[in-house]
Amino acid sequence: MKAVFIREHGGVDKLIYGDIEEPSVGEGEVLVKVKATSINHIDIWVRQGIPAYKTVFPHICGSDVAGIVEEVGKNVKGIKSGERVVLSPGLSCYRCRECICGRDNLCRDYKIRGAATQGGYAEYTVARDMDVFPILDGLSFEDAAAFPLTFLTSWHMLITRARLRPGDSVLVIGAGSGIGSAAVKIAKLSGAKVIATAGTGVKLEKAIAIGADYAIDHSKTDYSGKVRELTGGRGVDIIFEHVGPATWERSLRSLSKYGRLVICGATTGPEVSIDLRGLFMQEHSISGSIMGTRREFLSILELVCRGGLRPVIDSVIPLSDAAEGQKRMLNREGFGKILLIP
Ligand SMILES: [Zn+2]
Repeated sequence: MKAVFIREHGGVDKLIYGDIEEPSVGEGEVLVKVKATSINHIDIWVRQGIPAYKTVFPHICGSDVAGIVEEVGKNVKGIKSGERVVLSPGLSCYRCRECICGRDNLCRDYKIRGAATQGGYAEYTVARDMDVFPILDGLSFEDAAAFPLTFLTSWHMLITRARLRPGDSVLVIGAGSGIGSAAVKIAKLSGAKVIATAGTGVKLEKAIAIGADYAIDHSKTDYSGKVRELTGGRGVDIIFEHVGPATWERSLRSLSKYGRLVICGATTGPEVSIDLRGLFMQEHSISGSIMGTRREFLSILELVCRGGLRPVIDSVIPLSDAAEGQKRMLNREGFGKILLIP
């Protein structure tokens, strides 16, 4: 089958589009013909090589997969060949203490599809039956492949970790990213007032177009002053962070009393400093967040199938152009998700 894979870590030039052996389907597994997949930052980290992921070569990236069931393995019940499906991007054991307590994103054996397993940058991929979910005919494969990882991440951050309620004000840092655009959509659907930041005029316009109430250029201004101005001097209830040192201090200055900052990434570095006096005097909460749970995934899937949530798609390109797509993401040229079609 045709696929995009790597034989070693490195730059985008390590992405090979070529022929690779089609995966075989084992007991309890399903072979899916991939109709659409999408690019996430984790694909780039896995390609570059990070200690958290032990990569077996040749490796196929891709956490988001929508497609058609091609073949079902032994002892698979309730899934038929020809069904339109989407795959869960997170793989849990559903047996450990965290899984049983409903925190399966913290499973002792947690894996992300396409990072610790072979992924969706291919004509075919294999999934455990428990990670395969049917989608309605009205949902396009592109939309189905655009939402899983980013919407799951952003939902867990805003709804579960930051306890978003109607009427809350939310500052979304980097609204042009996959998770940023998902956060704007989720926050608006939840009845929040959304202030988005982005780095170019075009992205600011797009942030407003997808539902943000205000958009601030984070490349030119100290957005904390503007956030204070827009919230009557109070600051925002929730900050959606994934950048780290480059935005950390400005973000903390934008937070209201009793505000919640939730963070899922550190794209500009792993270390920040914090004045503990500000933390306790203003009763700030800082929460970490990683992926999301199966229950959350099903809630999002239902909303996406019903049309209540619609992912933001930047571009749809052939799988063979995956390197170009990753370059676009690295250069921050896109707004929303970049889809790859095998
Ligand atoms: Zn588990």
